[in-house]
Amino acid sequence: MKKHYQILILFCLILMSGCQQNHYEKEISEETLLSQSITLDENKEKEELTHTEEKIENEATSEDTEELIDIDTEDNVVYLTFDDGPNLATSTILEVLQEYDAEATFFLMEPLMREYPQLVQNILDENHAIGLHGVTHNKDKFYESEQSALNEMLQGQETLKDLTGVHTNLIRTPYGSIPYLTESYRELFQENNFKIWDWNVDSSDWSLTGQQYVDSVINQIEKLDQANITPIILLHDTAETAEHLPTLLTYLKNNHFTMKKLTDQLKPYQFSCHERCYRLNSGQ
Ligand SMILES: [Zn+2]
Repeated sequence: MKKHYQILILFCLILMSGCQQNHYEKEISEETLLSQSITLDENKEKEELTHTEEKIENEATSEDTEELIDIDTEDNVVYLTFDDGPNLATSTILEVLQEYDAEATFFLMEPLMREYPQLVQNILDENHAIGLHGVTHNKDKFYESEQSALNEMLQGQETLKDLTGVHTNLIRTPYGSIPYLTESYRELFQENNFKIWDWNVDSSDWSLTGQQYVDSVINQIEKLDQANITPIILLHDTAETAEHLPTLLTYLKNNHFTMKKLTDQLKPYQFSCHERCYRLNSGQ
């Protein structure tokens, strides 16, 4: 009899511990479920947030690209750009351009705009575009800080507006945007609606003779043409460049190129930093 009680008690104990274990397991699994659902909720929230962020980003970029034209989609177009004017050579350049029914863009120096206001007006009257090239053309001054670079362009913008009533956002920084125009400079220009233009054909007209620069430019245009890239040609307002410009424009006419001016509607062509940019004063 005693033995039977013992077995019964033992049986009850086993049952009870089984129940407890079940309960314990249930508790754990509920906790796991709860924590899983929290994680799910968190993930969902995170996902929604990422989606919203992505959406905002997409909207911003699609807005930018939607209204800006990619110049490489244009066939047989070249963009002639002249830096460092206006000066006495500008008049000759304007005459040649008119003769060949060519449009161009002039990136002007602020002090020279004040010195030759009539030339600035002539450029506009003959249906060319004006961009800004700063005030000092001195790398140590222009690239000293984000603000100094911006200020030079703002000063040029204001002078052009005062002289002609025309507002421009087109800029080319002295010596081009590589290497001193780091991302923070570019961002500040973008915040101020400026459009930075570099070039993909360097005429080297400041170092080569007249015929040499023309040959070099033609050579580069032919290569870009094969790759369906629209040429943006860097030239300067000099007497030598003006003198040999008819040879270049004859080639362009004969090869059915249209010479157009840069506009606000075009997506600017810029050298990209790709780790090639550094602050002017970074070594100090
Ligand atoms: Zn220059």
